[in-house]
Amino acid sequence: MKFCIENFGCQMNEHDAEKMSSLLTRSGMERINEAKDADIVIVNTCCVREKAEQKFYSLMGRLRSLKRRKGVILGVTGCIAQSEKEGIGERLPYIDFSLGPSSIHRITEAVEHAVRKTRFFDFSDNGCTASLVVEPGNPCKRIKAFVTIMKGCNNFCSYCIVPYVRGREVSRDSRDVLREIEDVAEKGAKEVTLLGQNVNSYNKGRDDLPFPDLLKAINRIGGIERIRFVTSHPKDLSPGLIDCFGSLDKLCESIHLPFQAGSDKILSLMNRGYSAEEYLRKIRLLRERCPDIAITADCIVGFPGEGEEDFERTMDLVSEVRFDGMFSFVYSPRKNTAASGLPGAVPREVALERLIRLQAAQKSITLEHNRSMEGRVVQVLVEDRSRNSEDEVMGRTRTNKIVNFRGSPDMVGSLVEVRITKGYANSLRG
Ligand code: SF4
Repeated sequence: MKFCIENFGCQMNEHDAEKMSSLLTRSGMERINEAKDADIVIVNTCCVREKAEQKFYSLMGRLRSLKRRKGVILGVTGCIAQSEKEGIGERLPYIDFSLGPSSIHRITEAVEHAVRKTRFFDFSDNGCTASLVVEPGNPCKRIKAFVTIMKGCNNFCSYCIVPYVRGREVSRDSRDVLREIEDVAEKGAKEVTLLGQNVNSYNKGRDDLPFPDLLKAINRIGGIERIRFVTSHPKDLSPGLIDCFGSLDKLCESIHLPFQAGSDKILSLMNRGYSAEEYLRKIRLLRERCPDIAITADCIVGFPGEGEEDFERTMDLVSEVRFDGMFSFVYSPRKNTAASGLPGAVPREVALERLIRLQAAQKSITLEHNRSMEGRVVQVLVEDRSRNSEDEVMGRTRTNKIVNFRGSPDMVGSLVEVRITKGYANSLRG
């Protein structure tokens, strides 16, 4: 049987899709890209942003007619499944199965039920880490491996649905994590990215390796050349973790550290647990420890109660930090979150105008950063052929910037020194 996974959302979701793909492939099924040619279509959902949810429901409308015409098996997994639970089977009566993010390790079972024409639903969240584990012996041909080390979140930022749909924080045993990384290293992975909704609170309150010690242990694994992690919470960026930058040779000089807003009033309404000054202090410490570190972030504009002055504080923070890159969004209320009941909604046109100003400011900062690299020689891990030219390959610097340069496909997987000749808004040429 052929299956296709339509994936929405973040890196965690991509990893969940890979995990399901690996389990189905191991049971003899073949993954393809086009839903129209598949026997099974799995829609792996994300409900963090309203837009992704709207896109999901319109996709389901199209898949419904595919099911009518071809009788495909249709399943829904991920965050929307978890937030709707059994309601999703009523809302979409034509789906065959649905699994929450903690139950995706049961994907093969779900498909088997669908083949026998019985519907299958599992939204349990019992703190089990089975869904995070990559199957032993999973064929990893990738030079970049993604390893989930924890799931869930205890922070309850007032705008965020993650703690409700992904549950509370659960960390994997460090011995299992290290074994998995040794396994992918043996199979050729050179770079490992540790994943978690709140990755730097790994093992908080548990009698197991704290996050900085986990990084030190991974740094000793032969074959692994680069270590990254995502996503970090500023309040959990400990002095021990800051010290790892610049002292662990394999830890890349790059961190994604969402700040969300520059106004203390808004940060408090968001329940972020830090002030703008505390965030800035950690940035200064990171740069003292590791001057070349590239810092990227997320930011929300138009949060309820955000006045022009609050937004100016966000602009101030952006010009002080000078991020290498930033993902910015207009606030969209998610049902059942604390922020959805807050007064002071910002009119959409005002929020959009702020977003445009913010993105324009960040774009020129990113361009300046990228241009400042012209003439420098940097290490690049070659990941793939270039999308634009047959004679070129693409890779990433340790600071996570994309570089396109002349090269042949046999360079994929190697670490090479590249002189940067041109910096653009989104990439570098070497
Ligand atoms: S830290 Fe906040 S924004 Fe991030 S997943 Fe947890 S609740 Fe959501």
